[in-house]
Amino acid sequence: YLVGPVTVLALSKQAEGSNGQPLERLDELVESYIQVLAALADAGVAWVQLAEPATVADLAVADDAQIAAHLEAAYTKILAAENRPQVYLTTPYGSARAGLDALAKVAPEALHVDLSVGTQALDADYVNRVKNTVDTAKTQLVAGLVDGRNVWAGNLRALRETFEQFDGASVSTSVSLQHVPHTVEAEPNLPVDVAAWFSFANEKIGEVVALAAGPLDAAEAYARADRAVRTRAESTRTHNQQVADRTAALPKGQVQREPAFTERQEAQKALGLPALPTTTIGSFPQTSDIRKARADHRAGNLTDEQYVEELRKEVASVIELQERLGLDVLVHGEPERNDMVQYFAELLDGFVVTENGWVQSYGSRCTRPPIVVGDVSRPKAMTVEWAKYAQSLSDKHVKGMLTGPVTILAWSFVRDDVHQSVSADQIGVALADEVKDLEEAGIEIIQIDEPALRELLPLREEDRPSYLDWAVRSFRLVSLDAAPTTQIHTHLCYSEFGQIIDAVAGLDADVTSIEAARSRMELLQDIDEKFHSEIGPGIYDIHSPRIPSVAEMAELIRAALKHVPLERLWVNPDCGLKTRGYEETEQSLRNMVLARDEVAANLKVSVNA
Ligand code: GLN
Ligand code: ZN
Repeated sequence: YLVGPVTVLALSKQAEGSNGQPLERLDELVESYIQVLAALADAGVAWVQLAEPATVADLAVADDAQIAAHLEAAYTKILAAENRPQVYLTTPYGSARAGLDALAKVAPEALHVDLSVGTQALDADYVNRVKNTVDTAKTQLVAGLVDGRNVWAGNLRALRETFEQFDGASVSTSVSLQHVPHTVEAEPNLPVDVAAWFSFANEKIGEVVALAAGPLDAAEAYARADRAVRTRAESTRTHNQQVADRTAALPKGQVQREPAFTERQEAQKALGLPALPTTTIGSFPQTSDIRKARADHRAGNLTDEQYVEELRKEVASVIELQERLGLDVLVHGEPERNDMVQYFAELLDGFVVTENGWVQSYGSRCTRPPIVVGDVSRPKAMTVEWAKYAQSLSDKHVKGMLTGPVTILAWSFVRDDVHQSVSADQIGVALADEVKDLEEAGIEIIQIDEPALRELLPLREEDRPSYLDWAVRSFRLVSLDAAPTTQIHTHLCYSEFGQIIDAVAGLDADVTSIEAARSRMELLQDIDEKFHSEIGPGIYDIHSPRIPSVAEMAELIRAALKHVPLERLWVNPDCGLKTRGYEETEQSLRNMVLARDEVAANLKVSVNA
C-alpha cells in the first residue's frame, strides 16, 4: 500500500527558499515509483494499492482538470512498466470528477470508488457516472459501499441494490478502516438497545462479505441489518419531540446577537480589564496525579466526593498560580475534563460513549470519539459548579469554558439519519442554556472553543458556503441571548485560517484567540481588514516544552500591534496547556506577562485594571 504520487505532491509544501510547485516534479517521483513497484514485484508482491484521494478534493495548488492531467501522465507511465505488481487504484473520501475519467482511461487492473451514503448525498449522480465511465471489461471496479468513516451498521439491502447496478464489481469499504474503532465486541456495556446499531472495523468487514455474498447466502446478516435499521428509526433515543419542537421554533437562516459588537465592547468596559489583557486558553497541565485520581475514580477506588475534592484542590492551586503570575483573566484549568469533547458528550443526552473505541487522532495520539445517536439535549448544568467555585477564589474574572457545537460534532461520530446541521442546532441551544446558567452564577466572561471549525470544511468548494453557514449559526446560537455585558470569547487552532477568516470573523465573538506563534503571526495579514472584534493571536507555541523569552514574546506583541489596535489586542498562548508540565508553564506564563508589561511600558499605557 502506498499513497499515489499525484496525491503525495498535491499535498506537499515546497521547502522554504525553493522555487516551483511540488507537482512540477511529478516525472521524477514517478520514476521512483516505477523502481519501487519493480522491487515489490521482485519480492513476489502480486498487487499494490495506490491511493489517490487528491481526485476528490478542490485543492488550492491545482484544479480538477490539472489533477486529471497529472494522473493520466503518471499512470500511463506506471502502468506501462513491465516489471510491476497489478495496480489497484483507490479514490477515497468523496467523489472523483475529471480524475475519474483520467483513471478510467488509463485502466489500472482495479479501480476503487467511494460510494458511501455520505458521498452519494453530496453527489447524487456519482453511481451513474461511475457506471458510464469505468469500462469493467478492462478494469475490475471496486465499489466502496460500506462507510468507513462512521460507526453505523449499514442498510445492507439498500447497499446491495446499488451494488447490483454494476456488472461484475467487487465490494469494499469507502475508505480505510483507520477512522473507526476495532470492534463492537469490546463494548459489553453499551445500552442494549443501541449496541446492534453499530458497526466498527471488524463488523464492517462482515458487511463487505455479506454484500458480496448477497441476501440468499448471508440471510442472517441481512436480517440483522434490517432489524438495526428499523429499531433505530423507531427509537425514542433517536427522536425526542421536545428537542425537535424547540429547534423548530428557532429563527431560520443566520441569527444575530444584539446589540452589535461596538456597543457590546462599550458595555464590556464595565469588566474593568487593563490594556493588553493577559489570559490563557483554558486547560492547565493535566498532572499524573489528576490522571491517577480519574483512573481511581473510574475503578471505584475513589468516591465521587473524594474525586471532586482532589479536583477542587487542583482548581485552587491553578487560581493561586495565575494570581501569583499576575494574569488578568483567569481560568479554572479544566482538571475535571478527560477530553474537551467527551466531557460534554457524557453530560448531554443523545450521546453514547465507548470504553475501548480508540481511534488514531494524529501520530501516536488517540481519542475515543463519542457517538451522537439521537436528538441532543442538556439534562442539567455541566460546568457551572466548577466555574462558580473557581470564581469564588478570586476577585479577578474567571472565564467560563465551553466546547462549541462544531468541535463537539467534528470530534464525535455523527448521525447519518439527519443532516449535521440538525445536531449542530440542538447542541447550540443546549450550550445556550449553559451560557444562561453561567451568567446567573455570576460568570461574566465565557469562552466557547471552536478549534475544529476548519476541520469540517468540505473538500469541494461548492459545499463550503452552506457548511460555513450552519457552522457559524450553531456557534451564534450559543451566544445569541448572552447579555451585552457578558464577554464571549472563542478559540481556534490546529490549522491555517486564512481560507475561512470571514467565517471566523462571522462567529461574532467579542474576543477571538487564535493559534499564530508557529507561523510567526502570518495570519495577521488576513486579520487586518476582516476583523473588528478583539483578538489574541497566540504568542507562544504550547506544543513545545521550550520556554519562550520575554524579548521574543514582546516582539510578537509589537508585530501584532502593527495590525491590531491596542484597544483590541489580547496577550495569550496559542492553545491550552494540558500537555505541558507545570515548571515550563509557570516560567512561560511569567515571561508572557513580563513581555506584556514591557510593551505597555514602552507605549506608556497602564496595565492596572
Ligand atoms: N480550552 C481548551 C484547552 O485549553 C481548548 C483546547 C483546544 O483548543 N484544543 O484545553
Ligand atoms: Zn487550541
